[in-house]
Amino acid sequence: MSEVQQTKSVSVEEGETLVKVNDLKTYYGEGGLIDSNPVKAVDGVSLDIKRGETLGLVGESGCGKSTLGRTLIQLENATSGEVLFDGTDVTELSGAELKNWRRNSQMVFQDPESSLNDRMTVGEIIREPLDVHDWKTPRERREHVRELLDVVGLRPEHYYRYPHQFSGGQRQRIGIARALALEPEFIVLDEPVSALDVSVQAQILNLLEDLQDEFGLTYLFIAHDLSVVRHICDRVAVMYLGHIMELGDAEELFENPKNPYTISLLSAIPEPDPTSDRERITLRGTPPSPRDPPKGCPFSTRCPMKIRPEEFEDVDVDLWVAIEVFREVVRERSRAERSATDQLKEMLGMETRFSDIGEIRQELFGGLNVPRNIEKHIEETAGYIENNDDQQAREYLRDVFGSICDTDEPDDFVVSDTGRFSHCHRHLDEYEEPDEFTPYTMR
Ligand code: SF4
Repeated sequence: MSEVQQTKSVSVEEGETLVKVNDLKTYYGEGGLIDSNPVKAVDGVSLDIKRGETLGLVGESGCGKSTLGRTLIQLENATSGEVLFDGTDVTELSGAELKNWRRNSQMVFQDPESSLNDRMTVGEIIREPLDVHDWKTPRERREHVRELLDVVGLRPEHYYRYPHQFSGGQRQRIGIARALALEPEFIVLDEPVSALDVSVQAQILNLLEDLQDEFGLTYLFIAHDLSVVRHICDRVAVMYLGHIMELGDAEELFENPKNPYTISLLSAIPEPDPTSDRERITLRGTPPSPRDPPKGCPFSTRCPMKIRPEEFEDVDVDLWVAIEVFREVVRERSRAERSATDQLKEMLGMETRFSDIGEIRQELFGGLNVPRNIEKHIEETAGYIENNDDQQAREYLRDVFGSICDTDEPDDFVVSDTGRFSHCHRHLDEYEEPDEFTPYTMR
């Protein structure tokens, strides 16, 4: 991992850029009464999309993929940052300018069952964007819709039928025809085949590829099925908790992932070869709340390659995992909302569901040999918790057991001569790759 070049703004070397995204943030619920922390759905994304390519966007559900796709085509408002289409920052557009630009970018939705209005005929559904934009004459619109039906493999007589008369695959063809109606350059495909049977998925993927060749379309293909992404995408961006962790050529990234999150994600793909010795990494728990993301690297609460502080480099793996789990328990506890009853009980010194730290310690560290230089920190933390100072406990643990992964957001590092980048401190020379992954599950 050491032969890398550090960069803050990564540019694509080859191919003309159609979409350039700079430090894009999309936050929700800022300034709410109950919890003033905003949900950081997209939190500082920078990437380029080349004209005519398919860029895959993958990651666990809730990582911000759909919000990023929707923000790119202005179905969501960006909180800050830029989305440059052919050099124009579309986050700054409004009114007629925005409406006019919208012709250029469309979206195909995941669920063909619910994304079409069942009270409109197929012809009306596909024609609707043409009517909204007052495209040519009504007669030309009808003719264009009939052409589009043909282009997506439907028949002219389908014009007057209703969506419920069609199968899932046919309904997705209707959605694609509608997206094509205004002859856009850029289409966000949000899980376009994940609600379909496998045999139908292949037909729709082939259709999307044919349409791309015919009309020179550029796609952002959002998916959680990694084998589909490998099949259809030129490049892939891997997203976690609002951040792009790795982005680069699809085949290269699948063959030789560089970022710990990509490595973990790909290791979960079922291996067809039973004799393969590929290590399967099971990530513990779920991603943290996007209302309260980790301070340093977004993946730091689950990363199996996380950098340890020098002082604890030789600590036994089982004990280190127990410490990390303990940190997560304390972290979640400091986030949890106390009910009015719990608060009252705490004031009266009564037992609450938040006062079981002794039990947690016993469960995590009971069967382990815990040296004194670690035990004293666990005790100190337990003291803060018993005094209901969960925030202090959390910070104390971070100060003692945290590393650069907990305190500093990593830069993007170029990790191959094709311009692939990875968002991880492990690419710095001083943090050599560990010999093995920390198995991030309790044994
Ligand atoms: S910066 Fe640290 S926690 Fe983040 S992916 Fe790299 S090793 Fe893991």
